[in-house]
Amino acid sequence: MFYRSNDDETMYCDAIGKLLAQVAPVQRVQALDNRKAFDFELHQALAEVGAWGVGVDESLGGSGGGPVLQVLTLEMLGQQATSMAVFGVIQYMATRLLRQFGTEEQKRQYLEPLCSGKIRASFCMTESGGGTDILTTLKTRAVRSGEGWRLNGSKYWISGATRSDLLIVLARTAEHRSRGISMFLVPAQTGGVTATELNTFAINGYDTCSVSLDDVDLPADAILGTENQGFMQVLGTLNSERLNASAVASGIGRGAHRLAVAYAKEREAFGRPIGQFQALQHKLVHAGVELEAAWTLTLGAARLEEEGRDVSVESAIAKLAASGAGQRAAELGMEVVGGAAFDIDMPMQRYYRDIRLYSFAPLTDSMVANFLGERWLGLPRSY
Ligand SMILES: Cc1cc2nc3c(=O)[nH]c(=O)nc-3n(C[C@H](O)[C@H](O)[C@H](O)COP(=O)(O)OP(=O)(O)OC[C@H]3O[C@@H](n4cnc5c(N)ncnc54)[C@H](O)[C@@H]3O)c2cc1C
Repeated sequence: MFYRSNDDETMYCDAIGKLLAQVAPVQRVQALDNRKAFDFELHQALAEVGAWGVGVDESLGGSGGGPVLQVLTLEMLGQQATSMAVFGVIQYMATRLLRQFGTEEQKRQYLEPLCSGKIRASFCMTESGGGTDILTTLKTRAVRSGEGWRLNGSKYWISGATRSDLLIVLARTAEHRSRGISMFLVPAQTGGVTATELNTFAINGYDTCSVSLDDVDLPADAILGTENQGFMQVLGTLNSERLNASAVASGIGRGAHRLAVAYAKEREAFGRPIGQFQALQHKLVHAGVELEAAWTLTLGAARLEEEGRDVSVESAIAKLAASGAGQRAAELGMEVVGGAAFDIDMPMQRYYRDIRLYSFAPLTDSMVANFLGERWLGLPRSY
């Protein structure tokens, strides 16, 4: 609403909008979610319009564009196909890591197949000991073995791992706390890799998994980026991931809000639409204002990032705003829809469940606030 797209962005968004209307009508998305099934058809259709190649140069098999097109894509997916939006965040993370840190051979091997939807990737950092204090909990280790590496350990809460072809795994390669971690490219079929789907209550259309790595032998060129700098290299991409998470959270909130407004116009009580009652009308207006503000912050930060500016503070502000606005919009949606919100065939409950992810991923809102307290407000570190 407050953002004027250029012609390329408008054309691209129109194409995504048409595709979603055709391939991912709400009943279909909901039915797949209820069956905990990944939408392969939508994934492929999005690949064909170039959605999975956004942010990757055409010369590498991508479709060009940058942070703005990525957030526009993810916000639209969040409004309608929430699990596919989460897939998109991981897809863009994987292609970004490969694009920034891959050798020419790694880029050639993986980028085109990822962008064209032939393969999918997972990002494996978190372990069962916890995601926030990751430098303490990360125990997966890679040791030199012959010409290459041998990996042992396990990962937890990994998106998409049972259906991924490629795992990007962070493992300890030296004793230094932060500069002793490397990234590895692990084909999912490698011996010793086992991904198991966890039984979770949300993001049902995209598996969340544990991954065991038992004596996984890798060649020397399986390292992505610089040995022992893997964690620092991942940190460098977190602004983009925060912005992409903000886009999904904004989208989910806007999806819930749109549904709530439509319902408030149709549903009647005491001879009038429930949206005529000021108690609901004002809440819907305030939730809409909050969502517009969050989305404007997200787009503004994405635009700055596209210009090459450091957006660590801006992306953190956008993430907090979008996570809060999205959660409150979904909560209000549940109130407006009343008992029907419990209907598993109605998407409101899905928005309400799925929005939770972005209150703690990729970083919890408390840790984002810690970062802002320190870096934005100049207050002493709180932990
Ligand atoms: C559905 C799903 C998908 C995921 N996908 C992936 C993936 O693909 N790849 C991957 O690597 N990880 C993934 N994750 C993991 C995710 O990134 C972590 O859940 C997240 O980093 C938080 O870690 P935690 O859940 O272990 O919380 P914990 O670290 O156990 O934290 C618990 C609580 O303590 C609070 N806390 C901790 N320290 C502080 C502090 N200093 N100040 C204030 N509060 C604090 C936190 O804010 C939080 O509220 C996924 C998780 C889920 C549930």
